[in-house]
Amino acid sequence: MSRYVFGPVPSRRLGNSLGVDIIPGKYCCFDCIYCQIGKTTNHQIERKSFFDPYAIVSEVIEEANKSNQIDYITFSGSGEPTLNSDLGLMIDEVKRAISVPVSVITSGALLFQDDVRRDLLSTDIILPSLDAVSEDIFRYINRPHLVVDAQSIISGLKLFRKDFRGKIWLEVMLVKDINDDEEELGKIKEVVESVGVDKIQLNTVTRPPSEDIPGMLTREELERARSFLGDICEIISKFEETPVLHGEKEWSKNVLNILKRRSLSLDEIVKVTGVSFYKAKNRLKLMENEEQIKSYHFHDTIFYMFNR
Ligand code: SF4
Repeated sequence: MSRYVFGPVPSRRLGNSLGVDIIPGKYCCFDCIYCQIGKTTNHQIERKSFFDPYAIVSEVIEEANKSNQIDYITFSGSGEPTLNSDLGLMIDEVKRAISVPVSVITSGALLFQDDVRRDLLSTDIILPSLDAVSEDIFRYINRPHLVVDAQSIISGLKLFRKDFRGKIWLEVMLVKDINDDEEELGKIKEVVESVGVDKIQLNTVTRPPSEDIPGMLTREELERARSFLGDICEIISKFEETPVLHGEKEWSKNVLNILKRRSLSLDEIVKVTGVSFYKAKNRLKLMENEEQIKSYHFHDTIFYMFNR
């Protein structure tokens, strides 16, 4: 069973994505109000080596060779993947061994650091976030580590763009009545133009976050924001998803495929499949009753595993 690699999972942003989890829960530079993983327990910016990078690389190569339907190998984690100081080494080793494009999903919080930008240079796509430009709104939504601010992220993005030959797809998570007015969207638009990102991927809180916050925009409100932000903007919230991926049968098949390789917590299943917490829980219950999967407790978390 894989320890670091999961999927391939149907990703809203990257097609069939083989995920690589290189961060233990939950190390992050942010503690976003909408985070699906849960509270940040290790709020930090110091990078470190969490696991044996060569063990991760060989697992990625092994899993990638089992499937010929992978669009991307995606480095992410139960927190911020650039906190892993072996990231550059792992990306380079994977790219040397396999021809599948590599992507990294990041908050962008550490892009102001030279070593982080260097590590990301050989990826094909990076998917950073920018939810707000105004410091007060940024701090309210993302609750960053003290030394990170919106301006340092923007400067990091600009520096990175100068040297990076791949694509930058910027995710903007809109929270109702917080960062969705024209004033804030206008500031985001200015930054996008000055950085030169290739795509804006607009999202909204469509699943219950770990905290009880309001937040979801309607489809019409998202459409208005999309047309305000211009042609490079696309909506990636679940309104735009193909219904077949959320058909119960298809969903269960995908989850079962992942659980054959790796146990996942309920939060992780919600995160990789994109359905609501409650829907996932009910579907998992049914799968458990049918003895396809088993659940167990580890510390305070319920994990699900394939029933062999
Ligand atoms: S950056 Fe991502 S992992 Fe970190 S708190 Fe925000 S949503 Fe969660």
